[in-house]
Formats: sequence, structure tokens, C-alpha cells
Amino acid sequence: MEKRKDKLPNPLDQHYTGKYPLKKQEAPGIQADMQPAPDCGEESYEGHGRLEGRKALITGGDSGIGRAVAIAYAREGADVAINYLPAEQKDAEEVAKLIREAGRKAVLIPGDISDEDFCKQMVQEANKQLDGLDILALIAGKQVAISNIEDLDTDQLRKTFEINVFSLFWIVKEALPLLPPGATIITTASIQAYQPGKELLDYAATKSAIIAFTRALAKQVASKGIRANAVAPGPFWSALQITGGQLDEKIPEFGQNTPLKRAGQPVELAGVYVLLASPESSYTTAEVYGVTGGNHTA
Ligand code: NAD
Ligand code: MG
Repeated sequence: MEKRKDKLPNPLDQHYTGKYPLKKQEAPGIQADMQPAPDCGEESYEGHGRLEGRKALITGGDSGIGRAVAIAYAREGADVAINYLPAEQKDAEEVAKLIREAGRKAVLIPGDISDEDFCKQMVQEANKQLDGLDILALIAGKQVAISNIEDLDTDQLRKTFEINVFSLFWIVKEALPLLPPGATIITTASIQAYQPGKELLDYAATKSAIIAFTRALAKQVASKGIRANAVAPGPFWSALQITGGQLDEKIPEFGQNTPLKRAGQPVELAGVYVLLASPESSYTTAEVYGVTGGNHTA
């Protein structure tokens, strides 16, 4: 994003407003090969010390929303461990470089969170390398659009639930004994939990489950001084969309059916993940924070 200190930015044209080319990749996709590249705040995000000294584990931290959050957390003063799939090493190295350029520690933990044992190892590794843990930003996700339920196979159904939902149970279970009072947990739901698309049956169901999980968890951990909230994004330009997350015909005008008439860019979510991680949001827990371009949640 161009910095315009002299002029108030207009949300209608603050980011890319054109059509998106149908340039597909195999899942999980490499952001470095995307055209146009999602804007994760690499050039624009400015930190203000809001997470000074914090220690964050971010899943899906290589690309898209997770990358925007990793950059923002580092520039706000946190040390950051990111998880991603081994195939995404190239994207992850770029993020690590940006975290280090912000003067913070970057820890790379590749691996598959649909595996319970890996989830446990990842949490322990992050805790060890960062010498503690007080933010979990759980952002990794799987989305595959299928027009008819008859074509939705059990393998996809299982994987989508394992990655989007089961991993949250496994990660939080392992992390809870390590988290101090004041720690914050942020999950990533979707507008799909509220307005499910007809080709996203399994994905939308996982996103509803994430909201129920987060709200129940928030009530369970409140007595420990730990808060848990979910973010529910609308359409954001990311690798998820061009690796089967959308039907092909929906890519060119992706996001243009919102009141703001464009897709969001991951950097436009960074501020919300920072707010929910920081003590500024000390009275906010069990909430879902929508960032949708106007097609609101609920
Ligand atoms: P993205 O593809 O950039 O990020 C998703 C990440 O999930 C990948 O980078 C990958 O590292 C990770 N992942 C997938 N399977 C994994 C596995 N088995 N083990 C470990 N990591 C795995 O796309 P994104 O849009 O930034 O997605 C981030 C989150 O935001 C997802 O939970 C997605 O459901 C959610 N979301 C996205 C949108 C959107 O429009 N982009 C809207 C609502 C919610
Ligand atoms: Mg990725």
C-alpha cells in the first residue's frame, strides 16, 4: 500500500480493486508465485510497541493472513514462531527475514497440524525456542470448494476438520499449562460460519465449530486470566483462494460483491489480531471480530 500521510485513504481504493487472474496452484500454494501478491504489510505495517516482549506462536504464518500477523507482531515487539507445511519453506524464509529485520527472534517450525503428535511437539518447540509462550494465533486452515455433497469425499471431510478444528484442541491442550495469566488465544473463523456458501459445506461447518470452540474455551480459561477470541474474515486475497478454495469462476471478481466492492488484503486484518493479542483488549473475551468489507457477520 502506498503511504499517503497527506491524504486520508479511501477504503474503496486503498488496495487492489482490479480483476484477479485465474492462475491456479496446487495446495498449499506458494505466495511468492502469486500474481498479484497478497499485501501482508511488508512495506506498510508500522509497529508501536504494543506487544513488547511478547512470545507468539502463529500457525499458517508463512503466507496470507498468518504472514500479515507475523509481520505485525514482530514490528509490535514480539518474538515469533511460525508453523507451516514443509512445502512452504520458501514463503516461511521470507517471513523469518522480515521478523529478524524488525529486530525480533524468528523460529521456524514446519510440520502438519493434522497430526496430534506434531501439534504437541510444535508447542513444546515454540515454548523452548522463545523461552515461553503468551500468544497463540491459530490461523492455518484448509478450504476446498466442491459443488455437490455427492462429490465430497471422506478424506477431504476428515482433513478439513482435522486441520481447521481438531488441531485447535491439540494445540491449546498442550499449550495451556505453559500460558501465564494475561496470555491470549486467537482463532480464525470466517464469514462462512454465518453465511455459508453452497460449495463450502465442510469448510463452513468447521468455521462454525471454531466459533463454538473459542467461546466455550474462553469461559473455561477466564479464571486463569487467559482470554480467547475469534476473528471472522470476509473475502481476503490469499493462496487459499487459488489452490481450490474457490470455484474457478469466482476468482476474477473475488470480493467484489461486498459493499466495499473489493477483496480485503491480509494487512487489513493485522490490526485486529494485534488488538486481540494485546492488553488493550483486556475486557474482550469469547467474542468474534468480523472484518468483512461490509457483508457483516450475524
Ligand atoms: P493461506 O493459504 O495463505 O494460509 C493458510 C495456511 O494454512 C497455509 O499457509 C498453510 O501453512 C496452513 N496449513 C494448511 N494445511 C496445513 C497443515 N496440514 N499443517 C500445517 N499448516 C497448514 O490462506 P489465508 O487465507 O491466509 O488463510 C488463513 C486462515 O484464514 C485460514 O484459517 C482460513 O480459513 C481463514 N480465512 C480466510 C479467508 C480468506 O478469504 N482468505 C476468509 C475467512 C477465513
Ligand atoms: Mg502458505
